[in-house]
Amino acid sequence: MVAAPGLLIFDVDGTLTFSAGLTRLAFELAVRDIYSITDSTRGIVPFGLTDRAIFRMILKNNNLSNGDFEGQFDRFSGLSARHLERELNASDKPGLHTGVRALLESLSNYSDIHLALGTGNIEQNAHLKLARHGIDHFFPVGGFGSDEEDRTAILDLAYRRSVDYYGIEFEKRRTWVIGDTPLDVINGRNIGARTIAVATGAFAEQELLKHEPDAVLPDFNDRSGFIRLVKDG
Ligand SMILES: [Mg+2]
Repeated sequence: MVAAPGLLIFDVDGTLTFSAGLTRLAFELAVRDIYSITDSTRGIVPFGLTDRAIFRMILKNNNLSNGDFEGQFDRFSGLSARHLERELNASDKPGLHTGVRALLESLSNYSDIHLALGTGNIEQNAHLKLARHGIDHFFPVGGFGSDEEDRTAILDLAYRRSVDYYGIEFEKRRTWVIGDTPLDVINGRNIGARTIAVATGAFAEQELLKHEPDAVLPDFNDRSGFIRLVKDG
Protein backbone atom coordinates (compact mmCIF):
# COMPACT_ATOMS: atom_id res chain seq x y z
CA MET A 1 0.00 0.00 0.00
CA VAL A 2 1.30 3.45 -0.85
CA ALA A 3 1.09 5.88 2.07
CA ALA A 4 -0.61 9.23 1.54
CA PRO A 5 1.91 12.02 0.90
CA GLY A 6 3.28 13.81 3.92
CA LEU A 7 4.18 17.42 4.55
CA LEU A 8 6.86 18.39 7.06
CA ILE A 9 6.83 22.04 8.13
CA PHE A 10 10.12 22.92 9.82
CA ASP A 11 10.94 25.80 12.12
CA VAL A 12 14.39 27.37 11.57
CA ASP A 13 16.08 28.77 14.73
CA GLY A 14 16.86 26.14 17.33
CA THR A 15 15.47 23.41 15.08
CA LEU A 16 17.58 23.43 11.92
CA THR A 17 20.13 26.15 12.65
CA PHE A 18 21.67 28.23 15.39
CA SER A 19 22.95 31.67 14.65
CA ALA A 20 25.01 32.26 17.80
CA GLY A 21 23.51 35.65 18.63
CA LEU A 22 23.91 37.03 15.11
CA THR A 23 20.16 37.54 14.61
CA ARG A 24 19.99 39.71 17.70
CA LEU A 25 23.08 41.60 16.54
CA ALA A 26 21.58 42.18 13.07
CA PHE A 27 18.34 43.45 14.66
CA GLU A 28 20.23 45.83 16.93
CA LEU A 29 22.29 47.18 14.03
CA ALA A 30 19.15 47.70 11.92
CA VAL A 31 17.46 49.56 14.79
CA ARG A 32 20.59 51.63 15.30
CA ASP A 33 20.57 52.60 11.60
CA ILE A 34 16.94 53.75 11.73
CA TYR A 35 16.53 55.20 15.24
CA SER A 36 20.12 55.87 16.38
CA ILE A 37 19.71 53.81 19.56
CA THR A 38 21.72 50.85 20.81
CA ASP A 39 20.98 47.82 22.98
CA SER A 40 17.40 47.90 21.69
CA THR A 41 16.64 44.18 22.15
CA ARG A 42 17.60 44.09 25.80
CA GLY A 43 15.19 41.99 27.85
CA ILE A 44 13.48 40.38 24.86
CA VAL A 45 13.38 36.57 25.01
CA PRO A 46 12.90 35.65 21.36
CA PHE A 47 12.28 31.89 21.52
CA GLY A 48 9.21 31.01 19.48
CA LEU A 49 8.34 34.65 18.82
CA THR A 50 7.82 35.96 15.31
CA ASP A 51 10.02 38.74 13.96
CA ARG A 52 7.02 41.06 13.60
CA ALA A 53 6.21 40.49 17.28
CA ILE A 54 9.84 41.06 18.25
CA PHE A 55 9.98 44.30 16.26
CA ARG A 56 6.77 45.46 17.93
CA MET A 57 8.40 44.79 21.34
CA ILE A 58 11.52 46.71 20.30
CA LEU A 59 9.39 49.74 19.43
CA LYS A 60 7.44 49.51 22.68
CA ASN A 61 10.42 48.86 24.97
CA ASN A 62 12.32 51.80 23.52
CA ASN A 63 9.37 54.17 23.49
CA LEU A 64 9.39 54.42 19.69
CA SER A 65 6.20 55.26 17.82
CA ASN A 66 4.46 52.32 16.15
CA GLY A 67 2.78 54.61 13.61
CA ASP A 68 3.18 53.32 10.03
CA PHE A 69 4.17 49.95 11.48
CA GLU A 70 4.33 48.34 8.03
CA GLY A 71 6.66 51.00 6.68
CA GLN A 72 8.92 50.78 9.70
CA PHE A 73 8.90 46.98 9.62
CA ASP A 74 9.81 46.93 5.91
CA ARG A 75 12.76 49.18 6.53
CA PHE A 76 13.84 47.16 9.56
CA SER A 77 13.52 43.91 7.57
CA GLY A 78 15.69 45.07 4.71
CA LEU A 79 18.39 46.44 6.99
CA SER A 80 18.38 43.40 9.26
CA ALA A 81 18.89 41.13 6.24
CA ARG A 82 21.86 43.20 5.08
CA HIS A 83 23.48 43.06 8.50
CA LEU A 84 22.65 39.39 8.99
CA GLU A 85 24.15 38.37 5.65
CA ARG A 86 27.40 40.17 6.42
CA GLU A 87 27.60 38.80 9.98
CA LEU A 88 26.80 35.22 8.90
CA ASN A 89 29.53 35.32 6.30
CA ALA A 90 32.06 36.85 8.69
CA SER A 91 31.55 34.33 11.50
CA ASP A 92 32.26 30.64 11.90
CA LYS A 93 29.99 30.44 14.95
CA PRO A 94 26.58 29.79 13.32
CA GLY A 95 25.82 26.17 12.47
CA LEU A 96 23.37 23.37 11.84
CA HIS A 97 22.03 21.32 14.71
CA THR A 98 23.24 17.77 14.98
CA GLY A 99 21.80 15.38 12.42
CA VAL A 100 20.03 18.05 10.37
CA ARG A 101 21.97 17.78 7.13
CA ALA A 102 21.91 13.98 7.01
CA LEU A 103 18.19 13.93 7.86
CA LEU A 104 17.32 16.39 5.08
CA GLU A 105 19.40 14.41 2.60
CA SER A 106 17.61 11.20 3.65
CA LEU A 107 14.18 12.80 3.45
CA SER A 108 14.90 14.02 -0.08
CA ASN A 109 15.07 10.37 -1.17
CA TYR A 110 11.38 9.88 -0.35
CA SER A 111 9.11 11.12 -3.12
CA ASP A 112 6.10 11.02 -0.77
CA ILE A 113 7.67 13.40 1.78
CA HIS A 114 7.49 17.13 1.08
CA LEU A 115 9.24 19.91 2.97
CA ALA A 116 8.27 23.45 3.90
CA LEU A 117 9.31 26.15 6.35
CA GLY A 118 7.12 27.53 9.11
CA THR A 119 9.19 30.14 10.90
CA GLY A 120 8.92 33.42 12.74
CA ASN A 121 11.92 34.63 10.74
CA ILE A 122 11.64 37.37 8.16
CA GLU A 123 11.65 35.42 4.88
CA GLN A 124 14.93 36.76 3.60
CA ASN A 125 16.65 36.08 6.92
CA ALA A 126 15.40 32.48 6.99
CA HIS A 127 16.83 31.88 3.52
CA LEU A 128 20.13 33.52 4.50
CA LYS A 129 20.50 31.27 7.56
CA LEU A 130 19.78 28.11 5.56
CA ALA A 131 21.87 29.15 2.56
CA ARG A 132 24.83 29.79 4.88
CA HIS A 133 24.93 26.02 5.45
CA GLY A 134 23.81 24.89 2.00
CA ILE A 135 20.36 23.58 2.97
CA ASP A 136 18.09 26.30 1.55
CA HIS A 137 17.28 24.26 -1.59
CA PHE A 138 15.44 21.66 0.52
CA PHE A 139 12.75 24.27 1.30
CA PRO A 140 11.07 25.70 -1.81
CA VAL A 141 8.03 27.01 0.07
CA GLY A 142 6.98 28.26 3.49
CA GLY A 143 5.30 30.75 5.79
CA PHE A 144 7.41 33.45 7.42
CA GLY A 145 7.56 36.08 10.12
CA SER A 146 7.43 38.75 7.44
CA ASP A 147 4.02 37.43 6.33
CA GLU A 148 2.17 37.36 9.62
CA GLU A 149 2.69 38.28 13.27
CA ASP A 150 0.80 35.31 14.66
CA ARG A 151 2.49 31.92 14.49
CA THR A 152 -0.71 30.00 13.81
CA ALA A 153 -1.33 32.26 10.78
CA ILE A 154 2.24 31.64 9.59
CA LEU A 155 1.80 27.88 9.84
CA ASP A 156 -1.59 28.03 8.15
CA LEU A 157 0.00 30.03 5.32
CA ALA A 158 2.87 27.52 5.10
CA TYR A 159 0.30 24.72 4.78
CA ARG A 160 -1.78 26.50 2.12
CA ARG A 161 1.26 27.56 0.08
CA SER A 162 2.52 23.96 0.24
CA VAL A 163 -0.80 22.66 -1.07
CA ASP A 164 -0.48 25.09 -4.00
CA TYR A 165 3.22 24.53 -4.59
CA TYR A 166 3.16 20.73 -4.50
CA GLY A 167 -0.35 20.43 -5.94
CA ILE A 168 -1.31 18.04 -3.13
CA GLU A 169 -4.14 18.46 -0.64
CA PHE A 170 -2.12 17.11 2.31
CA GLU A 171 -4.14 15.34 4.97
CA LYS A 172 -3.71 17.11 8.30
CA ARG A 173 -2.84 13.82 9.98
CA ARG A 174 0.04 13.57 7.50
CA THR A 175 1.11 17.17 8.13
CA TRP A 176 3.79 17.62 10.79
CA VAL A 177 5.00 20.81 12.39
CA ILE A 178 8.53 20.39 13.72
CA GLY A 179 10.05 22.92 16.10
CA ASP A 180 12.05 23.52 19.25
CA THR A 181 9.64 25.54 21.41
CA PRO A 182 6.26 25.05 23.10
CA LEU A 183 4.89 27.66 20.67
CA ASP A 184 5.72 25.43 17.70
CA VAL A 185 3.73 22.63 19.35
CA ILE A 186 0.77 24.80 20.38
CA ASN A 187 0.48 26.58 17.04
CA GLY A 188 1.08 23.41 15.05
CA ARG A 189 -1.83 21.83 16.86
CA ASN A 190 -3.89 24.97 16.13
CA ILE A 191 -3.74 24.25 12.39
CA GLY A 192 -4.70 20.62 12.99
CA ALA A 193 -1.23 19.27 12.25
CA ARG A 194 0.71 16.74 14.26
CA THR A 195 3.76 18.01 16.09
CA ILE A 196 7.32 16.98 16.80
CA ALA A 197 9.34 18.91 19.35
CA VAL A 198 13.11 18.69 19.22
CA ALA A 199 15.21 19.59 22.25
CA THR A 200 18.07 21.24 20.36
CA GLY A 201 16.93 24.78 21.15
CA ALA A 202 16.24 26.56 24.41
CA PHE A 203 13.84 23.95 25.85
CA ALA A 204 14.68 20.58 27.40
CA GLU A 205 12.72 17.43 26.58
CA GLN A 206 10.92 17.51 29.95
CA GLU A 207 9.66 21.03 29.29
CA LEU A 208 8.53 20.21 25.75
CA LEU A 209 6.71 17.07 26.93
CA LYS A 210 4.37 19.20 29.07
CA HIS A 211 2.84 20.58 25.86
CA GLU A 212 2.03 17.08 24.61
CA PRO A 213 3.52 17.03 21.14
CA ASP A 214 3.07 13.77 19.23
CA ALA A 215 6.77 13.14 19.74
CA VAL A 216 9.75 14.69 21.50
CA LEU A 217 13.23 14.04 20.14
CA PRO A 218 16.60 14.88 21.70
CA ASP A 219 17.91 15.80 18.22
CA PHE A 220 17.70 14.51 14.63
CA ASN A 221 20.38 11.84 14.91
CA ASP A 222 17.94 8.92 14.71
CA ARG A 223 17.08 9.31 11.03
CA SER A 224 15.34 6.00 10.54
CA GLY A 225 13.25 6.58 13.67
CA PHE A 226 12.22 10.01 12.43
CA ILE A 227 11.28 8.71 8.98
CA ARG A 228 9.29 5.82 10.48
CA LEU A 229 7.44 8.28 12.67
CA VAL A 230 6.40 10.66 9.89
CA LYS A 231 5.60 7.91 7.40
CA ASP A 232 3.74 5.48 9.66
CA GLY A 233 3.04 7.43 12.86
MG1 LIG B 1 12.72 27.91 16.90
